[in-house]
Amino acid sequence: MSQIPRQLVIFGGQGSGKGTQAARLAEQFGLESIGTGDILRRMASEGTPAGDKIAKIIGAGQLVPDDMIAEIVSLQLESLPADRGFVLEGYPRTVRQADLLREVLDRLGRSPASVVFITLDVPRDVVVKRLLERGRHDDTQELIEERLRLYEEQTTPVLKAVEQWATVVHINGNQPVETVTEEISNQLNNAQAQA
Ligand code: AMP
Repeated sequence: MSQIPRQLVIFGGQGSGKGTQAARLAEQFGLESIGTGDILRRMASEGTPAGDKIAKIIGAGQLVPDDMIAEIVSLQLESLPADRGFVLEGYPRTVRQADLLREVLDRLGRSPASVVFITLDVPRDVVVKRLLERGRHDDTQELIEERLRLYEEQTTPVLKAVEQWATVVHINGNQPVETVTEEISNQLNNAQAQA
């Protein structure tokens, strides 16, 4: 049996169900859940100068600078006991972030090679429908399409980069929530058996 704690990354665009699956996996495997969107929203509501800056960036649908978010994630990972696993959600979103993740794991002696990236694949039309139903004010068809385009533009290079040092598994995210969790668990067991 492997002594390395589970190190998972949930990868998927808006509306792919990654938040839901991250919470379920954290519960099922007893992992620390680290969601960068949640952390940033919390910081944005604090009313500090840094928080105000983050709020502006989120409000404009842009990404916060790589070095800033990498620092936040590094602090979270550093504070984890060495035997505690994690599920990262919403990070890395760029190739630079992926490189910085690998670096910090290396530095902490947390075997980057054992990380499993779980990619939730959901057809574009299903995602658009889910987001339109969510009905947030920034969820107009036009803005959704733009965010999806940006995501797709950035996703492929990130996946290509991490394939060099980690395991990447693809899951059909267009299924009931429980089925998606079950398929992820099965894939994780397979990945571990092959390690
Ligand atoms: P999310 O809840 O994951 O969709 O994140 C909400 C917002 O937080 C995003 O639209 C970005 O502005 C910001 N954000 C979250 N994660 C990251 C990240 N890894 N890099 C840069 N910005 C991020």
